[in-house]
Amino acid sequence: MDCLSCAAPLPAKSAKCLHCGTLNDIDLRTVHRSVASTEASDRTCPRCALLMSSVDLGIDGGFFIERCDQCLGIFFDPGELEHVLKVSVDRVHEVDRERLSVMIAEEYADNPRPVKYIKCPVCETLMNRRVFGAKSGVVVDGCRQHGVWLDGGELAQIVKWAKVGGRIIDAEAKKRDARSRQGRNLREGNEGAKLSGFESEYASSAFDSPLVGALRALFSIL
Ligand SMILES: [Zn+2]
Ligand SMILES: [Zn+2]
Ligand SMILES: [Zn+2]
Repeated sequence: MDCLSCAAPLPAKSAKCLHCGTLNDIDLRTVHRSVASTEASDRTCPRCALLMSSVDLGIDGGFFIERCDQCLGIFFDPGELEHVLKVSVDRVHEVDRERLSVMIAEEYADNPRPVKYIKCPVCETLMNRRVFGAKSGVVVDGCRQHGVWLDGGELAQIVKWAKVGGRIIDAEAKKRDARSRQGRNLREGNEGAKLSGFESEYASSAFDSPLVGALRALFSIL
């Protein structure tokens, strides 16, 4: 993806051109949606502390996401991101391992944003940070109850990952996880532990916070 202003290549996962500083509106272009309408939202951007806009993506005759006009970050209610991916990315039958490995190398080569925990735009508690799907390299901020925040450029990256077959790898990882969980539950005589919304959606993803990671490891042992 190139900068719409100066044509320099954009860094992975970021909408901001390192060359001319232009913030490129690449996310909505990537999901091939012409914005049907925009109105003021009463939710606040967790990065800029400004009121966001409610943007109708025109899917299914009315599909609103919240977006910040300043940083171009997007907040998705539970299930919305999955739905946008479903309608934007055609079914992929094979993993393009070559392109995926190039993407992964790009992901870890640069980190356009310093790590900062941000607040859920709905309940204002600090959100968790997790890698979205297996090997996507995109760390998303999520609230268990209210949804997921993507910074500008991250949706474009997730769409790219889905197009090279990232979700196939994700499904395989989830299957492996489920098998090992099942094995563990059988050994321990438990019914399968039920995961809440955010967790089941990102069950195969790695935790970003060392503390949460340690807690999770602890609970999986117990
Ligand atoms: Zn530029
Ligand atoms: Zn913002
Ligand atoms: Zn919340």
